[in-house]
Amino acid sequence: MIPGSFEYHRPAGLAEAVALLGKLDSEARVIAGGHSLIPMMKLRLAAPTHLVDLAGVAELKGVRRENGDIVIGAMTTQHEIIGDPLLGEHAPILRETAEAIADPQVRYFGTIGGNVANGDPGNDMPALMMALGAAYVLRGASGERRVAAREYYLSPYETAAKPGEVLTAIRVPAPPAGHGFAYEKLKRKVGDYATAAAAAILTVSGGRIATCAIALTNVAGTPLLARDAAASVIGAALDKPALARAAAAATAIAEPAADGRGSAEYRAKMAGVMTARALVRAFARASS
Ligand SMILES: Cc1cc2nc3c(=O)[nH]c(=O)nc-3n(C[C@H](O)[C@H](O)[C@H](O)COP(=O)(O)OP(=O)(O)OC[C@H]3O[C@@H](n4cnc5c(N)ncnc54)[C@H](O)[C@@H]3O)c2cc1C
Repeated sequence: MIPGSFEYHRPAGLAEAVALLGKLDSEARVIAGGHSLIPMMKLRLAAPTHLVDLAGVAELKGVRRENGDIVIGAMTTQHEIIGDPLLGEHAPILRETAEAIADPQVRYFGTIGGNVANGDPGNDMPALMMALGAAYVLRGASGERRVAAREYYLSPYETAAKPGEVLTAIRVPAPPAGHGFAYEKLKRKVGDYATAAAAAILTVSGGRIATCAIALTNVAGTPLLARDAAASVIGAALDKPALARAAAAATAIAEPAADGRGSAEYRAKMAGVMTARALVRAFARASS
């Protein structure tokens, strides 16, 4: 369980990190909290030749408001997400989702950038970012670009990021005041990845759902935006038939593998159950 050898680099700023990645070979990787990458290196599932540590890059830290977006620096830890007052006030689903990740030890080190950049379908933040309509800011040798979270995940561990690009920040359009939200995660024990999980964000008007977005974690090779499930509850007062419709639509798009968490059929069914639970809690939290 000892990783292969690599060269370690610790740039002091973003420009230096990007320049380094531009010069190094294609097997160079950035390291953030190391709580996904180091285990993969120990298991020899990853064998980077160079590690570019972002820990000294101060401009990748922190949460701020900018033109209606909440901008979260990639090196902000999951622990910091939980305690951040701006997120607590404007996008509390981030706190709820971060609290569902692993345990305090992992959350002290694990970063939001590492969680969304990794491309592991078991990570919890990517589905949430799809539901929120977030965009990822990527910086490479040829400049900066934004990619919608909904277009970022291509297959397990394959994303739209190009070699040498650093994910610098996540831009979340601030959800409207009074919105309802919930992240429901079924896991076997504390610290486990999801058997299935669902994020729901909605608004309610006159007792009926006016807008809704739903996304699913760990029930396919990528996080899934559950468009039909969300569309099926628009205009509904969230009665039993509406919940059954949404659950069935979520189950229909799930394509999980059978694993120690259950059979493929069970995990697909749980995607529907988590969707219904998330909708119930989000609806109860929304002000009409
Ligand atoms: C016991 C345990 C349980 C866990 N349970 C869960 C769980 O239930 N849910 C969950 O979501 N996660 C879970 N995790 C994973 C944890 O949340 C990781 O910390 C997180 O997924 C990755 O963040 P990191 O900062 O540690 O990234 P790292 O491990 O440093 O990096 C992960 C990958 O992302 C890339 N990367 C990192 N930052 C950037 C960046 N800014 N730009 C470009 N690429 C970047 C790296 O090159 C690497 O390929 C668990 C981890 C452990 C050890």
